[in-house]
Amino acid sequence: MKKVLLALPLVIVACTAPEQASVVDAFNVNYLDTSVAPCEDFFQHTAGGWIDENPIPETETRWGRFNELIETNKHRLKTILEEVSAGTYEKGTDEQLIGDLFASAMDSIARNEAGLTPLMPYLEEVSSVASLEELFTLMGKNKFNGIGAPLSMYVSTDAKNSSAHALYVGQSGIGLPDRDYYLREDSASLVLQQQYRDHIAKVSALVGKDWDVDAIYNLEKAMAQAMKSRVEMRNSVARYNPMTLEQWQALAPNMPITAYVAAVGVHSDTLINSAPEYFSRFNEACAKSGLETWKQYYQWHVADAAANTLNDEFETLNFEFYSKILRGIPKMNPRWKRAQGAVGSLGDQLGHLYADRYFPEESKAQVEAMVEDLRSAFRDRINGLTWMSDTTKEKALAKLDAFTYKIGYPDKWEDLSDLDLSRASYFENSKALSQYFTADNLSKLEEPVDKEEWGMGAHIVNAYYNPLNNEVVFPAGILQPPFFNPEADDAINYGAIGGVIGHEFSHGFDDQGANYGADGNLENWWTAGDKKRFDELTTKLANQYDAYEVLPGVNVNGRLTLGENIADLGGLTLAYHAYLKHRGDTEVAPIDGFTDKQRIFLGWAQVWQMHGREEYLKNQVVTDPHSPGKFRVNGPMSNMPEFVEAFGGVCTNGGLVKAKEEQIIIW
Ligand SMILES: [Zn+2]
Repeated sequence: MKKVLLALPLVIVACTAPEQASVVDAFNVNYLDTSVAPCEDFFQHTAGGWIDENPIPETETRWGRFNELIETNKHRLKTILEEVSAGTYEKGTDEQLIGDLFASAMDSIARNEAGLTPLMPYLEEVSSVASLEELFTLMGKNKFNGIGAPLSMYVSTDAKNSSAHALYVGQSGIGLPDRDYYLREDSASLVLQQQYRDHIAKVSALVGKDWDVDAIYNLEKAMAQAMKSRVEMRNSVARYNPMTLEQWQALAPNMPITAYVAAVGVHSDTLINSAPEYFSRFNEACAKSGLETWKQYYQWHVADAAANTLNDEFETLNFEFYSKILRGIPKMNPRWKRAQGAVGSLGDQLGHLYADRYFPEESKAQVEAMVEDLRSAFRDRINGLTWMSDTTKEKALAKLDAFTYKIGYPDKWEDLSDLDLSRASYFENSKALSQYFTADNLSKLEEPVDKEEWGMGAHIVNAYYNPLNNEVVFPAGILQPPFFNPEADDAINYGAIGGVIGHEFSHGFDDQGANYGADGNLENWWTAGDKKRFDELTTKLANQYDAYEVLPGVNVNGRLTLGENIADLGGLTLAYHAYLKHRGDTEVAPIDGFTDKQRIFLGWAQVWQMHGREEYLKNQVVTDPHSPGKFRVNGPMSNMPEFVEAFGGVCTNGGLVKAKEEQIIIW
């Protein structure tokens, strides 16, 4: 569940609650499309009415219940940001850092007056470079300024020693969202490739340069051709390639890797290379491009990295390509929302102020109880699996028992009091942030892993599973309606936030998570036979999603989305059984004509009431490991005997639900 976006004020539809005592928004029956039967297309049945009433705002590329909640949070954060930016606070406090950063981003007068001037020294520094080695030295230095290079480098938990850190390196360096954008040759892709070159040409003119755009494009295309695909990059075992710097350099003698690393100033006897193939495949092309092309390529990336931190002209130019053409968004968001995005890098600080005001402590205990209910249901499911041997079950249960969780907000907040931000210049603030966080990340190499650390601000509407900590994390931002509604009936909440909790739990046992053990290390805990049966089941699921058509001729990539689809299927199944266990023998009366078992499915489906523009969907199937909302609803339900149980005879044949013997049950 990695979802981020923006939009218009939340409109809670104030429908009148029918006879039962259901709360207005537990599930709003006005959102149903009753012209489609639940067992034909549950997504359309439950989302059709909502979609009709909620067109995609002009500033957005997709719109759904996720976005509504994000929008509500944006307005809450706006209040906080306007308050702290109007006040005076002691230097280094959360309020000062956030307030000054926000004020500098909002200061259109200063930004437009400065124009492109702050960027110029960075471009001239590239002009003065006399060799490829010098250029890579500059790239290493500029890593601290947030400027990308044809290689990536960062410190993260060592996947085979989860209490220590390791230095990770890998592929990078292209300006389009994925290597496939360069490799495709259909007519729409050719048009897009030309539009990208046109955009680079416009930036060249804007910054007063005369770049050879085709040469820049061809260099990026050569990188794209050398890259591993997103599907290949999902293989965590193949991504773990320990080597020395000398061995890394030997993969691509033409690429001055050593010079780059020296400039970054980080030392490690061993580094982990996630894409050694990229370096060996790119080596030849690396030498083919002349120094002038390399310098122009890098100037383009220096400029591009600064596009949203300078004046309106550059920001608009950037919007025209990356948002309008690539994502189909007609209209730019208002300045306060763009500035809020800029403050997002201070996630802990923003999350702190947010959680203080908007997270009710009672929610924490309720969600904790649900997490334990889900764990208990998962334990039962593992014990009952027919395809897994007792030997592997024992390991799976040990991993499940070892899961930890974080709910709401961190116990301790990150101290950034030595970060130097001011109101003077948004461009300089952006550089200062980048320098601070890059240095902070690299400095962790020698330190043990802090298991208390959060990977997401408390205000974020999202959740995650971190296999290296074997933990599930639910920030305050998502613990609100329609995910978690203290006023709603239990069935709705188990289907919604319960499904999300189950989804994150299931990530620990998806095709990637299954490669990590109870203490977060990349290790095999499966017998060969069980692993084979697991792979067979997941392959069937990948094939099912491959067949889903998003737009005419555009299908879901079943391998790219496999982990998320396993998690959706597992998550909803767990939520269903956790609810039944929680309910016990209590009789629960139907609400709005739906039984409690049916309302579990309504709860899940409600979260995925959404739609997206064509451009969004096209981009999503290439870059996003999540399936479109429609298949996050219909996909799991097609495989669930529980869905048939809840909706009865109407679901026994045809339509959405697969024949019993075809249903894929993994967890
Ligand atoms: Zn997920």
